Parts: sequence; C-alpha cells; structure tokens
Amino acid sequence: MRVAIVGAGLVGRLVALELLKDKDIEITIYEKGSKDGVDSAGFTAAGMLAPYAELETAESVIFDLGHKSMELWPDILKQIGLFDGYQQNGTIITAHPQDLSELEHFIGMLQKKINKAKDIKLLDKDASADLEPDVKVNSKAFYITDEGVIDAQRFIAFSTNYLDIAPNVQFKEHTKVDKIESGAVYTSDGVSEYDWVFDTRGLGAKEHFSTLRGVRGEVLWIESNDINITRPTRLMHPRYKIYIVPRGNGCEGIDLDYCKECKMSASQSGHKRYIVGATEIESEDMSDISVRSSMELLSALYSVNPSFGEARVVHSETNCRPAFGDNLPRIENSDKLTRINGLYRHGYLLGPAIVKKAIEQGIRSTHD
Ligand SMILES: Cc1cc2nc3c(=O)[nH]c(=O)nc-3n(C[C@H](O)[C@H](O)[C@H](O)COP(=O)(O)OP(=O)(O)OC[C@H]3O[C@@H](n4cnc5c(N)ncnc54)[C@H](O)[C@@H]3O)c2cc1C
Repeated sequence: MRVAIVGAGLVGRLVALELLKDKDIEITIYEKGSKDGVDSAGFTAAGMLAPYAELETAESVIFDLGHKSMELWPDILKQIGLFDGYQQNGTIITAHPQDLSELEHFIGMLQKKINKAKDIKLLDKDASADLEPDVKVNSKAFYITDEGVIDAQRFIAFSTNYLDIAPNVQFKEHTKVDKIESGAVYTSDGVSEYDWVFDTRGLGAKEHFSTLRGVRGEVLWIESNDINITRPTRLMHPRYKIYIVPRGNGCEGIDLDYCKECKMSASQSGHKRYIVGATEIESEDMSDISVRSSMELLSALYSVNPSFGEARVVHSETNCRPAFGDNLPRIENSDKLTRINGLYRHGYLLGPAIVKKAIEQGIRSTHD
C-alpha cells in the first residue's frame, strides 16, 4: 500500500509512526520545510499534557482524549528510542498573591466539573518546600498528580532520525504541496497518486479549511545553574496559561545548528534548562517574540524564584497553533483521504488518541 503524508509536524509524525505498525506499507512524507521539523508548531511546543488545566476553557472530551493519549505516549516514545522523553510527575499550580482568587476559582471550577479533580492537593508552605523546594510559593499552590509533559523538541528530533532510516519511508523535504485530493498530491512537479493520503499540514491546510486560523504562541528557553525545578509549574495569569517546563537535558540528541550555538548547553555544563511559555495571541504573525511577551514570561519566572534573575535566555521560538472556531480538533475521512487538523494548544495532549481514531475510522476500516 502506498501512502502519502503531507506535513511532517507533530500530527504527520504520529500518523507515520502509527502506520508503520502495519508491515505492508510504503510511506512518502512531504514537508515544505526541512525534515528536521523545526518549522512546525510541534517543535515550538512546551509539550504539556495538562488535561485538568485545559478543562478551564475546553470541553470534557479534551479531558478524556487527553488521558487516552497519555496512555499511548510511552509506547510511541519507545518506538523511536526516546526513553526519557515522558514525565508524569504531576504539575504544580500557583499564583501571584494578587491572582490568588483566580487560582481558587480555577480549582473550585475543576472540582465541580470533574470528579477526579477532588484528588488535587492543596500544598502548604512545608509540603511545597518538600515537593519542589525551588518553587518559592508566596501565596498558595496546588498539586495535580496525574499531569505530565513530553520533551517535544527531542520527540521531533528522535522521530526524524527514526523515520529517516526506516526502509519503507521516503522523506520529500523542501517540497510544498499545493493541493490534496482523494488519493492525489499536487506539487510543482505534477500530481502523484497514492492508495491513501493524509493531510496533516496544520496551518498550511487553509486552502481546504477556510475557517482554520493561527493562534500565535511565544516561548523562551532559559538556562540556570542555581535552580532545580523538576516538574512543570504553572503560574495563574489573567491572559495566558504560563508554564515553566523543566527540560533537564537541554539539547541532548538534537542535532540542530542553533542548538549547538546555545550560549550554554545544559547537557554539557550541568545547567538546567526550562521552557517558559506560552503566550496566546489571536494573530498569525510568526515574527520574533515581542518585548511585552518577553517581560510577561520573564516576570512570571522571576516571581516563582527570584534566582531566575541570574539565569540566561538562550533561545526564543514563535509559532502559530492551528485552530478552528471551537478550538476542537477535526478529523475528515473520505475516499482515500484523511485530514486531521485544529489541534490548537492540544497537539501533544490529544495527538496520539486523535490519530489512532482517524486511522481506525479511515484507512484501516477500508483496508482491513
Ligand atoms: C508556543 C506553542 C506552545 C504549545 N504548547 C503545547 C503544549 O504544551 N501541549 C500541547 O499539547 N500542545 C502544545 N502546542 C500545540 C501543538 O504544537 C500543536 O497543536 C501541534 O503542533 C499541531 O500539529 P500539526 O501537525 O497539525 O501542525 P504542525 O506541528 O505545525 O505541523 C504542520 C507541518 O506541515 C507542514 N506544511 C504546512 N503546509 C505544507 C504544505 N503545503 N506542504 C508541505 N508541508 C506543509 C509545516 O511546515 C509543518 O511542518 C503548542 C503550540 C505552540 C505554538
């Protein structure tokens, strides 16, 4: 069976990895950028798996699919040889004293919406100091035990390596696809026919989805030799969901020029790396992070621990999340064609479950 996947971002990679479980398959992956995937939103992401935090604004389907994906991730990472890319040690949520009522409202809302949220623990100063001594809580903090995080940048790097050497996968990088139809992919070289095509172009699929929009998100990569925070920590913020996400090993296993250029390499120096993000702005502007966003993210960091003042900003990333009006993902299955899009801020949280569902309802139901 000959299959084409258009777009080697997060969803395209998950589709390829799932399809490779079927032996008699040949896959061609089209990507308009480089096969490293650094142009994708999937590379910019913090990789949070935060089904509770998302319940604030999303529907409970996100919660259920999120948990399903969290069950699937360990095997996906094993498949590509990334054995330390998944952490499920829970998240901490705290707030500036002036945002405390918002934090309490958020936890109360969760506990009303979902039974499991009754397990969320209120941390007093001592409990917080035991769990995460470098999170300097000056108001209140809560501990959600069953949230996690994927090392998104290393997922992209390891899946590139895996797909690159898979004998039945061909990468067509720097190849923009102009149009996709049932079983057909159009590029400037003409049309190629396949038994099945997956449209996983994210924001690049606007020629088909007229209501698809991009939601700008900015993140900073920080390195510190003073601070050791081991689990994602969220700070309540009136506009964004701000996370400080530990990336202990920095760029280890990522062979990218700008990773090599980082002023300090976490893996070599023993410094700890953190991703702090992400802003959420209704704009498709992919230009560099703004001064305002930098100040907001950095002041969140500083308020969690003033020693972050001596940390170094080693890199910033901007990308746009592909989203529909309802911010929910969409699967379109038709003859010889599956389109998956609108993963919004939930690509890592929902991707594995959505991809499995799309494949089972489409190509597998037709060809089994
Ligand atoms: C700042 C930020 C933080 C995020 N944090 C999280 C998080 O913590 N947790 C979480 O679950 N999600 C997070 N996300 C969301 C997640 O990254 C997205 O939901 C996910 O990447 C969407 O996957 P996708 O494959 O649809 O799109 P992408 O990952 O963007 O991939 C699309 C790919 O298609 C390629 N392409 C586009 N057009 C064409 C074309 N015409 N021809 C060929 N190739 C094409 C692109 O170059 C790209 O590589 C975050 C996103 C951002 C921007």
